[in-house]
Amino acid sequence: MIKLTFLGTRGEIEPRTRRYRMHSSLLISYKGKKVMLDCGQSWTAKLKKIKPDHIILTHAHPDHAWGLKKGAPCPVWATKETWKIIQDYPLSERRLIKPRSRQKIAGLTFEAFPVWHSVRCPAVGYRITCKSLKFFYISDVAYIPELEEAFHQIQFYIGDGATLFRPMIRKNKKTGEIFGHATICQQLTWCHKQKVPQMIITHCGADIVTHEKQRLQQIEKFAREREVEALVAYDGMEIVI
Ligand SMILES: [Zn+2]
Ligand SMILES: [Zn+2]
Repeated sequence: MIKLTFLGTRGEIEPRTRRYRMHSSLLISYKGKKVMLDCGQSWTAKLKKIKPDHIILTHAHPDHAWGLKKGAPCPVWATKETWKIIQDYPLSERRLIKPRSRQKIAGLTFEAFPVWHSVRCPAVGYRITCKSLKFFYISDVAYIPELEEAFHQIQFYIGDGATLFRPMIRKNKKTGEIFGHATICQQLTWCHKQKVPQMIITHCGADIVTHEKQRLQQIEKFAREREVEALVAYDGMEIVI
């Protein structure tokens, strides 16, 4: 049995509600161990209560890594690029994540895929597998270059809820790379194309946080059009698999 707890589901935005209060973070509980994915600023004083066995980072933005500024009670895993940015944090157990290599952590397998999101804070998403369960997690993403491999036969995709259909993208004209956040619509289309049956939306932006009811209906419609099931997560939501 694997339990996913959406500890936080809010992106880097001002508005917050009871359901979208804490910065995006996912806790995976498996065989008595707890792995926390991302640790943003709002988690600084709360790590002692959560007692994670491992913390894994997607990137070094404040809403994903600044909760570690005062240290961590466990090993922290991150890519070389992320470690460079948070090198002065008082973390004693530093572990390196190498993109596209499979890493066993607490009985689960994590494979990092570089994604386009930020120039200054390069991000990775994780393909997470455990026995027959396969899913992909990335809370902040403009584009996944290796989408096909990342989404291959996954049961669900946990993705970026920053914006519904208003693009939040900048383009590097020289390289053609894009940065920022893909819309929920685009991500549902990725799921449709790769035959992923479900998207779970986290890292919710002002769109969802301030007009929840209306937006949920719109998301449901977009998802139905793309033959994908959509679920919008909220702080504390649990899924047992
Ligand atoms: Zn973020
Ligand atoms: Zn970010």
